[in-house]
Amino acid sequence: MFAKKSRWNAIIVLIITMLFISSILFLGIRANAEVEEQFIDQFTQGQTSQAQQISNGITTFLNEKVTMLEVLSIQPHQIPDDNFSKTFESIYEKSKGFYVIEYVDKNGTIVSGYPEENTPLEYNLYENERSIPFEIVRETGETYITDPLTTFEKELAIYVWVPVYVGEDEFEGAFIAVIEIDKITEETIKTENPAGYIYLINDNARLLYDSAETDLIGKNYFDIINEPDVSRLEIIGMQTEGLSGSGTFSERNENGFLEQKIISYEPVIWKNQQWSVGVVTPLWYVESLVQSIYVKQGLFAMISVAFILFIGSFIALILFSWNKTLEDEVQSKTSELEKSNEYLQNANRKLKELDRLKNDFVSMVSHELKTPLTAMKTSSEFMKETECDPEVKEEMLDLIIRNIDRQSRMVDDLLDISRIESGRMKFNPEDVNIREIVETSLQTVEKQAKDKGINIKVGYPQESLTIRTDKDKLIRVFVNLLTNAIKFTPHEGDVEISVTDTGDNIQASIKDNGIGIPPEKRDKIFDKFYQVDSTATRKAGGTGLGLAIIKGIIDGQGGNIFVESENGKGSTFTFRLPKELKEEDFTEIEQH
Ligand code: ATP
Ligand code: MG
Repeated sequence: MFAKKSRWNAIIVLIITMLFISSILFLGIRANAEVEEQFIDQFTQGQTSQAQQISNGITTFLNEKVTMLEVLSIQPHQIPDDNFSKTFESIYEKSKGFYVIEYVDKNGTIVSGYPEENTPLEYNLYENERSIPFEIVRETGETYITDPLTTFEKELAIYVWVPVYVGEDEFEGAFIAVIEIDKITEETIKTENPAGYIYLINDNARLLYDSAETDLIGKNYFDIINEPDVSRLEIIGMQTEGLSGSGTFSERNENGFLEQKIISYEPVIWKNQQWSVGVVTPLWYVESLVQSIYVKQGLFAMISVAFILFIGSFIALILFSWNKTLEDEVQSKTSELEKSNEYLQNANRKLKELDRLKNDFVSMVSHELKTPLTAMKTSSEFMKETECDPEVKEEMLDLIIRNIDRQSRMVDDLLDISRIESGRMKFNPEDVNIREIVETSLQTVEKQAKDKGINIKVGYPQESLTIRTDKDKLIRVFVNLLTNAIKFTPHEGDVEISVTDTGDNIQASIKDNGIGIPPEKRDKIFDKFYQVDSTATRKAGGTGLGLAIIKGIIDGQGGNIFVESENGKGSTFTFRLPKELKEEDFTEIEQH
């Protein structure tokens, strides 16, 4: 029962531990997911501000250049003799990033420029059909920036056109500043994006800059993206519209695997130009940054799990040991109780036995003592009070003597049984002929048998049988057994004695065809005072000591006695005695 309980306790502790572990793991995974989500958000914000910084950098860089030219364009009251050459030089030197700064006179001819080696002097715009921007600035009176174009040196560059007026709105020509895109990006995109890339497109989706793929610069971005997924196309669309934002898309990496990317894009709006800068980072890179947090969280979860397991097993151990001690204690107490119970049962059995003995003894004594006493008393009184014939007197005296004999026999029996029980019965061994003993015994019971009409047959072995034993006691054994056989056999029955030689022993059986003994009583008849049917037996007389004394005599000389019987049909008592009575056999007397 306790082993079962321990098992249940262990299972409960195990379930609680598992619940703890799973909730910690669940919470850990939830927390991880939340942390990752937040981290990606934060990272995207950071990337957006990086794009904003780049955008601001580009605008500032370009504004600075244009402002210088615009200031110069409204200053003069007349065109200087050197056609601004000197001023161009100082601007060029001060502000890095110009490819060339030129002055075109009102006829559309390039008349000066710095540095000179980059200036196509005397180049006429009209002659070369490149007068459109020139016309625009003349018409609008405002700075105009061309879309990025390829220079003579095959570089992508923007052309900044600033109209030059002198006096009262007198159009005198224009400044052209050529700024190469890679110069712009070189100066403005200084932040690094180790795992991803930064690119710049204009509102026609033309790629102006790509930190990863310089070969593609100048191409249309819609044409070059390798995995035109919807979100990617939408993002480029929004970039060309000058919007800012962030999002995700997938793209194939150089190994051909699709990769999730996070993009932040920001417009670069400057004069009539509108570009967009995009900062792209692969998701795995962002996740790898979260990895260290995961590792720490995993470590924490593992420590927690280990701790819980430790506590769980500790509790389970305590419960086990509690149960074990309890179990042991209960077991020892149970066995103690069982022992004392057994002891009490034995004691009870003995007490019952004693009680029965006492009852048997009392009923026997009351009968066996009282009956002869009454007879004697009655006879004595009769003789005292009545003048009776000498014959009657003789008869009365005989009756008194018989009853005295009966009583002294009873006292002898009681003394014998007491000797047997205390191991004090004495045997006086002598060599006797078994035939002699049987004959003597038969003489004793002859009258009783005759009175009841019982015929006694005897069977002996051919050779005469001699045995060394206590003669008187062996006679007593035969007499007692024969008396019983006669007593418990109705009139005109048969009793048969047979004596056999079995080598070391002699064996004798006394068989009758009397009332028999019920099977359940057969063991008890050898107990002192025990009589099978006390009322029936009382009539026949007797103390219930006969068989107990016989058994004492037989056992006391190293023999044994047993009974076979069929209820209502008769009994056979058989005993064996060793021919040679040995000293050590004396002690084997059963205690009753
Ligand atoms: P006692 O022998 O002392 O005069 P008893 O004959 O009653 O008295 P036991 O000889 O010890 O006592 O016998 C015990 C009982 O066994 C008898 O009372 C009787 O009930 C039963 N018994 C003994 N011998 C026989 C027998 N041959 N046939 C049937 N019952 C017997
Ligand atoms: Mg008897």
